[in-house]
Amino acid sequence: KANERESLYLVSEFANTYFQKVLHKTDQGKSIGLSYFKERGFTDETIKTFDLGYSLNEWQVFTDEALKQGYNLDYLEKTGLTIVKEEKRFDRFKGRVMFPIKSMSGRVLGFGGRILINDKKAAKYVNSPESDIYHKSKVLYGIYHAKQSIAKEDNCFLVEGYTDVIQFHQTGIKNVVSSSGTALTSEQIRLINRLTKNITVLFDGDAAGMRASLRGIDLILEQGMNVKVCTFPQGEDPDSFAKQNTLEELSLYLEDNAKDFIQFKASVLYEESKNDPIKKADTVRDIVNSISKIPDRIKKEIYIQECARIMDISEEVLFSTLAQINKKEF
Ligand code: ATP
Ligand code: MN
Ligand code: MN
Ligand code: MN
Repeated sequence: KANERESLYLVSEFANTYFQKVLHKTDQGKSIGLSYFKERGFTDETIKTFDLGYSLNEWQVFTDEALKQGYNLDYLEKTGLTIVKEEKRFDRFKGRVMFPIKSMSGRVLGFGGRILINDKKAAKYVNSPESDIYHKSKVLYGIYHAKQSIAKEDNCFLVEGYTDVIQFHQTGIKNVVSSSGTALTSEQIRLINRLTKNITVLFDGDAAGMRASLRGIDLILEQGMNVKVCTFPQGEDPDSFAKQNTLEELSLYLEDNAKDFIQFKASVLYEESKNDPIKKADTVRDIVNSISKIPDRIKKEIYIQECARIMDISEEVLFSTLAQINKKEF
């Protein structure tokens, strides 16, 4: 089994080298892939740092090359690089720009591949399937490039996508990782927790995902970490915002707009429900539920006091709600 995992690592490493070679050395790679990355504002250095690549718009050239080089079809299929269907073989990432996903120690575990032109018929991103080396709930995109900086800055920015990580890095903020489209998990948070106790979650400015993401953040509180959140102007995400700003402007924006998570959640939910008593009751339970996740008793108490003020409700009600929630959990 250890041998098989090693084989999966090797074929992934081969694919990583191959996709980069295609990007830099083939006509199609240069005219389509490389110019796509350039248009997004990525420099040559950035493209090299993140091992960005391109997969030719052909049915099975990658698979053929891998087989020719002696890689086993079984491992190509297990890593998802090749899709085998009724004796036919297809390159999973056909015609996509490639983002390798690396472990904390820099080994290639899988890939994200993006289509070049937004088209409603195809998924914007295709990712490697789960395998013996790629468990998406345990991986954070960018962690290999961010780990030193996370420890040094004693903070980690958490963003939604691959390009957010890359653009921040290029702008000069390197303590940044992404859960890449999946709901945040405890295992992912634990990776960060080894490096810092402070996380700043950056939301895309589209509000759509924000409500859902608020849930995942309770998992960060459960690990006793400090959480701030920061939103971007409507229609912007960390990538597009960083692209338009200098490091100084970006840093200033983050400093000015990062808010304590509990305070943020209390004020957002309060605004939405203050005129509706039934909704407000749900809101109170929701926010106290988040507070109940905080292991530190003193912090818990301080948050209860603050939320009472923000939501215009008595501390006693909040404390008794907290007691109810605690009782249910035992
Ligand atoms: P881009 O700027 O290239 O459009 P993005 O990172 O801003 O990408 P979002 O739509 O904000 O894209 O999605 C955030 C992340 O969710 C992506 O980086 C990707 O990891 C994941 N994702 C988005 N769309 C899909 C999809 N159709 N299938 C799988 N994962 C996806
Ligand atoms: Mn988004
Ligand atoms: Mn986005
Ligand atoms: Mn984007």
